[in-house]
Amino acid sequence: MPASDPHELSIGEELHGLIGELFPIMRSITGHGLRKTFELLGERVPLEVTEVPTGTQVLDWTIPQEWNIEGAWIDGPSGERLVDLADSNLHVLGYSVPVRERLSLAELKEHLYSLPEHPDWIPFRNSYYSPNWGFCVEDRLLRSLVEGEYEVCIDSTLEDGSLTYAEAFVPGESDDEVLVSGYACHPSMANDNLSGLALMALLARHLSGQQPRLSYRFLFSPGTIGPIAWLARNEERLDRVKHGLVCLCVGDPGPLTYKKSRRGDAEIDRAAQLVLRDSGEPFEVHEWEPWGGDERQFNSPGFNLPVGTLTRSAPGSFPEYHTSADDLDFVRPEALARSFRAYLDVFDVLETNAAYVNLSPKGEPQLGRRGLYRAIGAGQGTHVNELSLLWVLNLSDGEHTLVDVAEQSGLTYAQVRDAARTLVEHDLLEPASN
Ligand SMILES: [Zn+2]
Repeated sequence: MPASDPHELSIGEELHGLIGELFPIMRSITGHGLRKTFELLGERVPLEVTEVPTGTQVLDWTIPQEWNIEGAWIDGPSGERLVDLADSNLHVLGYSVPVRERLSLAELKEHLYSLPEHPDWIPFRNSYYSPNWGFCVEDRLLRSLVEGEYEVCIDSTLEDGSLTYAEAFVPGESDDEVLVSGYACHPSMANDNLSGLALMALLARHLSGQQPRLSYRFLFSPGTIGPIAWLARNEERLDRVKHGLVCLCVGDPGPLTYKKSRRGDAEIDRAAQLVLRDSGEPFEVHEWEPWGGDERQFNSPGFNLPVGTLTRSAPGSFPEYHTSADDLDFVRPEALARSFRAYLDVFDVLETNAAYVNLSPKGEPQLGRRGLYRAIGAGQGTHVNELSLLWVLNLSDGEHTLVDVAEQSGLTYAQVRDAARTLVEHDLLEPASN
């Protein structure tokens, strides 16, 4: 990864610091941890918090009871504490029903989850929609357990309450919206999903200081049920969503990865691919599939919103995924800073992409007379050169957009964008009127 500029490095450090603040909070798809998370994010950017009561029908789903937990532990045959929720929020099966009982090793083992291939890691497991209880432990510990009587305690509550989600909205000149969505329900894992939450909060803060053309909505919600609840409550206004990205796993050292929307050729798909192409770094592009994260809801056929997924390593593709090894050391300030930059670059394409009309379309205009031939572009560091001017002039027939020009020419989007600006300044180009 090339060295970032000092501003980007400081953003990376700030992102990493925010992930560190969020890391200790016990989170699930409902409950106090989710609210505490939104409280902390709300210190970076104003959030509008919505509570959806237990039992509310949202599309084909029903908002579940709210789950909260005070503590959980396993004591061994000689009274020693073997597992304690205080040591890791991953130790308890998410949404475990309350339990306090003594049981044999064989009975206990039916409620233990481990990763034999990574004996020192704790897996992340949940049972949101079918009542169960359990502990997630290091396989090394599981193998060391001896016959005898064990005592387990899960001090949890499952009660009518609500599901919480939060939105940061940055109004632009236009009502057309860019939706950025990330899920907020995982406890104590840094890449999946705290990196996404931190990135979204600081992107929203950054955009609030700009004056964007488009409006931006950042949705922080619990996985699957969160977007479903949001979609159900916002169905009337979804036509405003012109572009979208699902944001998670943006802090690991892997290459930037874009997963296309169901449409496959939406403007967001083309913008994201251009940004990755222009980054000069290795990247991956994945086709749409109805498997993965919250993009599944936005891209369901009844909505078919143009929402792609921009990550570093794809969720599920790295061994640390959904384990205690997805910790604060696994996410890097440099990687976070590069992801921040990539998102801003995608937003820049969405902000500036447009079709233009060449005002001197018969023959090439005489660039030299206007000081545009060799006069600019000869210097180091400027994006604009004759080739980019000629490409923009040639394709600006009112139909091709700057994204078209960048794709067809192989020039970077920034070169094409800056060439168009230069040509507008010299009265050789004007925005297409549509
Ligand atoms: Zn996950």
